[in-house]
Amino acid sequence: MTGTDRTPRLKCRTCSKEYPLGAYFTGCPDCADQGRVGPLEVTYDYESLRRRGVLQTWAKPDGVWTFSELLPLAPGQTPISLAEGGTPLIRMRCARGRLWIKDETRNPTGAHKDRFHSVAVSMARVLGIAKVTASTTGNHGTSLAAYAAKAGMQCLIFCDVRSPAVLRQAMQVYGARVATLSKRQQHLEWLVRERGWYPSTAMTPMPVATPYGVEGYKTIAYEIFVQLGARVPARVIVPVAVGDILYGPWKGFRELRGLGADVALPRMHAVQAAGCDPIVQGFKGRAKQVPIHPSPRTIATSIADETAAAVSLETLYESGGTAERVTDDEIVDAMRALAMEGIIAEPAGAASIAAALAMQRRGELHPDEDVVCIVTGAGIKWPDGLALAAVPHELRDEDPNAVRAWLDAYDRAIAA
Ligand SMILES: *Cc1c(COP(=O)(O)O)cnc(C)c1O
Ligand SMILES: [Zn+2]
Repeated sequence: MTGTDRTPRLKCRTCSKEYPLGAYFTGCPDCADQGRVGPLEVTYDYESLRRRGVLQTWAKPDGVWTFSELLPLAPGQTPISLAEGGTPLIRMRCARGRLWIKDETRNPTGAHKDRFHSVAVSMARVLGIAKVTASTTGNHGTSLAAYAAKAGMQCLIFCDVRSPAVLRQAMQVYGARVATLSKRQQHLEWLVRERGWYPSTAMTPMPVATPYGVEGYKTIAYEIFVQLGARVPARVIVPVAVGDILYGPWKGFRELRGLGADVALPRMHAVQAAGCDPIVQGFKGRAKQVPIHPSPRTIATSIADETAAAVSLETLYESGGTAERVTDDEIVDAMRALAMEGIIAEPAGAASIAAALAMQRRGELHPDEDVVCIVTGAGIKWPDGLALAAVPHELRDEDPNAVRAWLDAYDRAIAA
């Protein structure tokens, strides 16, 4: 039967023209000829997948490649995998209502980004490209460096000056070349356009983009569907920088319907920090394009991009969601709340929980609705963020009397 299936194709989000999967890194050529922006995304033969009952084959998901029929590799093409995805969905104990943590900190390099690069780098290999590049505030580049290492590819990362030293070192341990620059984009574009490097970058905004990585993110939606027992949550709350991590799961939820799942679609909520909230500003003005935030200032570096892709706003409008801003103090509180669940998240990773707790306080979440927070990144890689959430009780005094007094004080505190 598979012989009659239409294989996955690229489809332009602007003009709907379709192309075979290939090395399209500057969007739809037809739209470019007419001076328009045409982001490409992968589309599948949903009807035939539905008839084959593909949803029923997902009973026990075991990572991103469980969903290989909804991913762009052809049968027989081996993915580059570090056992990404398959992350737990954990009911938050301390919260009222039905709040769930989708714990992406468990991925191989400690962030959801691993889902992205597993698919994006696998496609680089399929396309015969062995040089990969990206731009990063830290997590994206670390993850790409890991997958490039596994694939035996050359890797060149443009790091933001705010990215932590520990991550820039990790990239270099993986064998990547690192350039830490305040202006990164023009160099990356040049490598892709003139030197044949593969951009393991977001789906949009252009000028250079890959349509493939976001396919990895949509598997978060598939996993949530299976983990909730063939149901979809009422809301999904997501910390957002460029927007792929918001749009990817949204694409996944919509595809579930195309595959025959009888579900209502969730509202998608984007979260940003008060000190860098271009999506929130754009959403307020019902804008089409995300404005530029002149001077990002927040502890949540991984979501502190100056601007974002238009697709992030489109996702909010289409899904009936909202854009939420949270303060750095609320983020620190959320990091502590997550720690009580045994999870250490970085500030950006905890922003979804911060938003959910604030929405709950304001009475915006119904106690009977399932609300899933994507907790995107692990805290261990972000020592400055951890220092802010740690309560300063540490004893450093060697004097035995001081140790006694310290122990006494703790015992009294416990008894009180
Ligand atoms: C990259 C990142 C995000 C945002 O992802 P986008 O796809 O750029 O919106 C959120 N949280 C963490 C921890 C990240 O590393
Ligand atoms: Zn087009």
